[in-house]
Amino acid sequence: ARILQVSSKVNSTWYPASSFSSSVPTVKLFIDGKFVESKSDKWIDIHNPATNEVIGRVPQATKAEMDAAVASCKRAFPAWADTSVLSRQQVLLRYQQLIKENLKEIAKLITLEQGKTLADAEGDVFRGLQVVEHACSVTSLLLGETMPSITKDMDLYSYRLPLGVCAGITPFNFPAMIPLWMFPMAMVCGNTFLLKPSERVPGASMLLAKLLQDSGAPDGTLNILHGQHEAVNFICDHPDIKAISFVGSNQAGEYIFERGSRHGKRVQANMGAKNHGVVMPDANKENTLNQLIGAAFGAAGQRCMALSTAILVGEAKRWLPELVERAKNLRVNAGDQPGADLGPLITPQAKERVCNLIDSGTKEGASILLDGRKIKVKGYENGNFVGPTIISNVKPTMTCYKEEIFGPVLVVLETDTLDEAIKIVNDNPYGNGTAIFTTNGATARKYSHLVDVGQVGVNVPIPVPLPMFSFTGSRSSFRGDTNFYGKQGIQFYTQLKTITSQWKEEDATLSSPAVVMPT
Ligand code: NAD
Repeated sequence: ARILQVSSKVNSTWYPASSFSSSVPTVKLFIDGKFVESKSDKWIDIHNPATNEVIGRVPQATKAEMDAAVASCKRAFPAWADTSVLSRQQVLLRYQQLIKENLKEIAKLITLEQGKTLADAEGDVFRGLQVVEHACSVTSLLLGETMPSITKDMDLYSYRLPLGVCAGITPFNFPAMIPLWMFPMAMVCGNTFLLKPSERVPGASMLLAKLLQDSGAPDGTLNILHGQHEAVNFICDHPDIKAISFVGSNQAGEYIFERGSRHGKRVQANMGAKNHGVVMPDANKENTLNQLIGAAFGAAGQRCMALSTAILVGEAKRWLPELVERAKNLRVNAGDQPGADLGPLITPQAKERVCNLIDSGTKEGASILLDGRKIKVKGYENGNFVGPTIISNVKPTMTCYKEEIFGPVLVVLETDTLDEAIKIVNDNPYGNGTAIFTTNGATARKYSHLVDVGQVGVNVPIPVPLPMFSFTGSRSSFRGDTNFYGKQGIQFYTQLKTITSQWKEEDATLSSPAVVMPT
């Protein structure tokens, strides 16, 4: 079957369980605990990237609908903030169970709308689930601090309190994981949350909302609106929204960071990347080549942590032909087809952009060792496929090096020394992730310490930290002070209140006003 079916168990009001090809179903808004049809006259088509068939339509919410969503979050906040932390924890404990039970259904929706392989889509849900599981330790994460006897009869302690209504704006490439970085963390701290998922992949968010409701989250604690620029501007400007979490491109992220900050909100923005894999000649060759290929071409390169740039140091240059041979063996197919290693790109425009960047390599003097531009996938001739592509002889001045390609393209640079490689990585404006492949501990240590990148892998190609840590992209890959999930995530979604408390013995009552600054 070319069209995935969502099981009747999680049959939803936003996609009917029947074939998508017969009619065009509409994605609902989730307002005040109800899945409601938008009254908008502006709708966006959702396509299956493997076929480019229209599978649904998502509304651009009207102003009245956006107002209703924020009002619902605002109304729900006092009671939710006042709900005991143990009760909030119980909701998340039920939620993690329901996500596990429905993981495959969520993954199917992701493959349908986003195109990635089913196995990869399950990984997408799983990495989000891990954040929910970690959020269940809220009873430890939310602990404040205390200092007794700060002076005579006086104690000092702090609470971490919720902010109010928080909002999230998410990208197309991780339809489950990235929303799950946001609302479970925010909500377990006592905030209510307004989510605007990517208009290209809204399905997973809707299903996740349904499961959250089934877990016992009260109406209004999560609201979902759909749209593009108008919805984003609304979120940036609305006085009742206290914080914005954004993940996506630099163009949108810089804009949202500036506009949201100007309106006095906390903003954290995870953005684009150019992640370098530095290959030392002493590396375990077998592991390194396989890891490099997996991390460059997995998810068709549409990961912010894709290892899209290889720097081969010294004799490691000789491994290039073997790298190309291995990449040739990857199977490109629709994400729901057995054995597919990588699926299509998200849109025809994304494919065109990626192909143009490959073209630019040729024009600027690089060599295309493996060319995926003309790939044809049998049965999916209309899909947005690009096959694995390897560009060598790349220089840091070339467009294909400077731009984030976000496709299955590995650009390869060569250096004689580790120091030259470090300089290239540090001169690049992005600081999301990097990896070094070596069997020498001193080399690994030197690289990890000198490289100015937020997330470093040592023989680990995609070093995305587990949720007890935080996602720590830096430089042009991040705006804000406080990172996503982990302890940093708790800090982002809470504010500190300190209480200084004095209980004196009765006979120690002040006999006159104390007008001097207390010391
Ligand atoms: P995108 O910026 O196009 O879209 C992200 C969100 O912003 C969407 O909800 C979209 O509706 C909205 N948006 C898009 N353009 C906008 C604009 N001009 N003004 C206001 N809002 C706008 O990003 P995408 O194409 O969905 O995702 C791919 C990008 O996300 C890549 O650059 C990738 O590196 C980045 N990304 C980063 C991380 C990370 O953690 N650093 C993770 C995943 C993706």
